[in-house]
Amino acid sequence: MSNKDWSQFELETQAVRAGHDRTAYGEHGEPIFMTSSFVFDSAEHAAARFAGDDEGCVYSRFSNPTVSVFQDRLAAMEGGEACVATASGMSAILSTCLALLEQGDEILASKSIFGSTTVLFDKYLSRSGLVTKHIELTDLNAWQAAITPKTKMLFVETPSNPMTEVVDIRALADIAHKHDCLLVVDNCFCTPALQRPLELGADIVIHSATKFLDGQGRALGGAVVGSQKLVGEEVMGFLRTAGPTMSAFNAWVFIKGLETLKIRMDAHCRSAMELATWLEQQEQVERVYYPGLESHPQHELAKTQQDGFGGIVTFVVKGGQVGAWQLMDNTQLLSITANLGDAKSTITHPASTTHSRLTPEQRAEVGIEDGLVRIAVGLEGVEDIKRDLKF
Ligand SMILES: *Cc1c(COP(=O)(O)O)cnc(C)c1O
Repeated sequence: MSNKDWSQFELETQAVRAGHDRTAYGEHGEPIFMTSSFVFDSAEHAAARFAGDDEGCVYSRFSNPTVSVFQDRLAAMEGGEACVATASGMSAILSTCLALLEQGDEILASKSIFGSTTVLFDKYLSRSGLVTKHIELTDLNAWQAAITPKTKMLFVETPSNPMTEVVDIRALADIAHKHDCLLVVDNCFCTPALQRPLELGADIVIHSATKFLDGQGRALGGAVVGSQKLVGEEVMGFLRTAGPTMSAFNAWVFIKGLETLKIRMDAHCRSAMELATWLEQQEQVERVYYPGLESHPQHELAKTQQDGFGGIVTFVVKGGQVGAWQLMDNTQLLSITANLGDAKSTITHPASTTHSRLTPEQRAEVGIEDGLVRIAVGLEGVEDIKRDLKF
């Protein structure tokens, strides 16, 4: 709703200013509009609003001033023309697919993606005739070879969850566009503070706002960012009809989260780097996956594509599940929880939680071993985090 062109400003400035035009009250903070509907001056005015001839809010399923501030702010930060906020990250992915694809279309998705995304594609979207094939994230030739005339969408997370693999977004966008496909990037792990996929050629960015955008583990939300045509019209059209909408209150939580995103991400990155380096030296640790480590296969790519290596460190503990569970049960500070991107560090055993719905074969294929542990490094002192890991 803001008329200012925020693209001229730095990310830090967009994060605290973009999207908010003060109301007649001159409020400094962004107000929360807890109202389901909006009142019109006359019957004619109502008709004009519904027809889209008069800009303004109608009904909070698809238009709410607080949600608009969040959408405009995130759009500015990602460098997108439009943003649609959703009730969760999963509903952002669902809305994107149902708005842009039709029966018979094929999706190519990387093998290593969020567990629920895999289940959404393979179990639910497949029932509506959307076929998903899973591709090795980093193998550009495999992506190229898997595209058929029916392929309409390439879907990736980079860095991936939980293995932190990185793909060359620009190269993959070129492959997608050569075949008239859309490239969708789930930017949950990096956020626009560290990576802006649209600038690298991606067509759509997905967010689970639940994670780093909130940053304090308070609310569920999601977002889709991209062009006015694809997102502002198509995805918004789906949301308007189907209604997986973000609440005004949650939008306000995320607005406040965005304001501190950059300084939080920088702190997450610093501590994660420190922890990953330390873990690599531990006798009880077999392997560490973190894009900031020189041992990471895509370290050089991550250096050029990202402004930081992120807050997620994954590693394999000796002793398989027994070793991993023991480490987790020994912690007193870290929280055993599936969430990530919180100020509080969280520790997860992917094989038995987030990725437990995958078959053992599927897990093995993407490297999710029984000894694998994922830490989303929070904002506590990093020495305290290290001390809490008793192998
Ligand atoms: C959490 C997560 C999602 C799903 O988001 P919700 O807000 O939990 O629905 C999608 N992608 C990634 C990478 C995630 O970590």
